[in-house]
Amino acid sequence: METVFPLRFYASASVASTAAPSSGNRLASIGLWLRRHRQRIALMQWGVALFYGALVVLPAVLPLPSGDAHLWDNLRLFAQFVFWGLWWPGVMLATVSLGRVWCGLFCPEGFLSELASRHGRGKAAPTWLKWRYWPFIAFVTTTIYGQLVSVYQYAEAALLILGGSTLVAVLVGFLYGHDKRVWCRYLCPASGVFAILAKIAPLHYKVDRAAWDHAGAEQPFNCPPLVDVRRMSSASDCHACARCAGQRDAVQLAPRSPFAEILRLDIPARATDAYTLIFGVMGIATAAFQWTVSPWFLNLKMTLATWLVEHESYRLLDTDAPWWLLTHYPEVNDAFTWLDGILVLTYLLGGGVLLGALLLIAPHIAARLMRHPGLDWKRFALTLTPMGAASVILGLTMTTATQLRGEHLLLLWLPHLRVALLGAGVIASLWLAFALIRQAEKVKPLRRGGAFFAMTLPVALMTGVWGLAFFVW
Ligand code: SF4
Repeated sequence: METVFPLRFYASASVASTAAPSSGNRLASIGLWLRRHRQRIALMQWGVALFYGALVVLPAVLPLPSGDAHLWDNLRLFAQFVFWGLWWPGVMLATVSLGRVWCGLFCPEGFLSELASRHGRGKAAPTWLKWRYWPFIAFVTTTIYGQLVSVYQYAEAALLILGGSTLVAVLVGFLYGHDKRVWCRYLCPASGVFAILAKIAPLHYKVDRAAWDHAGAEQPFNCPPLVDVRRMSSASDCHACARCAGQRDAVQLAPRSPFAEILRLDIPARATDAYTLIFGVMGIATAAFQWTVSPWFLNLKMTLATWLVEHESYRLLDTDAPWWLLTHYPEVNDAFTWLDGILVLTYLLGGGVLLGALLLIAPHIAARLMRHPGLDWKRFALTLTPMGAASVILGLTMTTATQLRGEHLLLLWLPHLRVALLGAGVIASLWLAFALIRQAEKVKPLRRGGAFFAMTLPVALMTGVWGLAFFVW
């Protein structure tokens, strides 16, 4: 069902534009402009899909780069840099600053899935598919699997993971929904992470419920990720596609405080978001970013390998696993042993879950101390969102830095940028915890102080974990 543009809202926006527009009006106009220009956006999405398809498929059929190849003269290295050095960190930064615009306006996977659903079977999504933890499970699985097959380094692995994910997205689109993004809403591995980061975006599509209810006749529009727009209060599920901008004179792209959503107690704090943040983004993803620089990992591997040799047990030291199971590129001396595979799996799962469990203690203590309606452990866990955002951006840009250093670029500014990003995450998370606790005026000061102190501990832990990786190891 395509959009019928709401003339009344457009007229009022046009009138407003004859005077000096406020920043709010300007933003609303951008939302309306995006809604009016669906065809241009679709054209751009085709362009992104073709570029993405070429960068996923072509490098995988080319030979491995020679030692003197560069980003600018070798398609494998270029694609590797675009995907992991620019694209992923860029998408995270865009989501934190603008909301899920990547999903709504650019993502080739969502675009193709929606296209397939327009011409597919149109079946209703089954109940099992709507289980809220699929994106979390998918995120953890792809993060770990990506490390086992070295997805950041090899185009074959990127084709397998990104291409495979796109094929499944198209299949899900073909089977379920009509003109919808069932894949994005219920299954996409990145969806849970985007849902968290969008909570602190300073832009969102704001819904005026009263205006919605008092508007005249229903104007048809399509929300592909199946959001109940009338009741929408969180930016988590909204793909910022602008298709509801101006709807019933009640929806507009608007600025907000990046802390507003987490501090508003009438917006539910979901357990899925809290677990994805704590165990996914801050736990397992952090372990995945850091295992290659961890001396703990190296020492454990050397100790176990020595023990195996001493006991003449060589099976786990073989490198005969296929490339789609464990990294296997003997032509460049890069092949995982079975021991490597087991240790990577153990370090990521064990280390990530341990880190997540430690991070989770404080939100439970803070909630216990506060004993206040709405201030449960999930709400306190979500105050760590800025720290999680900083962590995932720091982790992803490690790949960017490695790639640029490979081109002999001196990145003297990098430590300062890292400290600034980490500092911003620390300050914003502590401020969120403080502002949340401040809302409960009737709770005794000692309890409030205790809750705040508890919430400084996970922030300190994450700062320590990243400090180790950047400045000690
Ligand atoms: S609520 Fe739906 S239609 Fe509106 S901007 Fe978000 S994703 Fe698009």
